[in-house]
Amino acid sequence: MKILVTNDDGITSSGIHALAHALTSVGDVVVVAPDKNWSISGHQKSLGRFLRADPYLHFPHQAIPAYATSGAPADCVALALMGLLESPPDIVVSGINRGANLGQDITYSGTVAATFEAAIFGIPAVAVSLDDRSEAANFNHAAPIAARVVQQVIEHGLPHHTLLNVNFPHAPASTWQGLRVTRLGKRRYEDQLVKGEDPGGQPWYWIKGAEPAGETDDPDTDIGAVHAGYVSVTPLRLDMSDLDLRQTIKGWF
Ligand code: MN
Repeated sequence: MKILVTNDDGITSSGIHALAHALTSVGDVVVVAPDKNWSISGHQKSLGRFLRADPYLHFPHQAIPAYATSGAPADCVALALMGLLESPPDIVVSGINRGANLGQDITYSGTVAATFEAAIFGIPAVAVSLDDRSEAANFNHAAPIAARVVQQVIEHGLPHHTLLNVNFPHAPASTWQGLRVTRLGKRRYEDQLVKGEDPGGQPWYWIKGAEPAGETDDPDTDIGAVHAGYVSVTPLRLDMSDLDLRQTIKGWF
């Protein structure tokens, strides 16, 4: 079993170190990750420009082969699946991200974009995030639990073009309530637009993003589950077709 590990925080992030190390108990791990932070980059894909993918010799676990690339998270997955590696991976695992990816966050997330890229290739994938953006974030408790989720995916498989989005609570691991299978909840973003003037007299704009809130009432949503101290596991699919709306707009034409 060959496991590709990537992320969007970059190859120097302690989240990917903990995840890759934990996954060595599940299969043969290879890391292909960005050489810089691509957080909130969405599903960026690089076409028509050079990409570098160099062996990365500073990965803290020497037995794990690692490559640092100049590309985005989705590029890392595409590179690995299209020939960078001698044989393609059986599963892609992305993370552990510094910060949750809940509700509408998945449309911004580079962590989740890497797993959508895997799903496009028809490879099962798991995105993993910890609801802690601080420098003190500790990934060591989440990593072995993420490895157990990956083990389940390997044993049971996933339908084509689907993936799992896993989020760990901010609270100490000793208080976690176990795993809860969820659906996407609703985020409430607290962004503000700040306007100023540059030294040349031209206006600039700055979108100031405070930590997003969300509707926490329903523990069957990812936001509610993480808020209540559960580890949230949300199945996602590439096909975002809205079948009810399809029926509705048929009457328009
Ligand atoms: Mn990130």
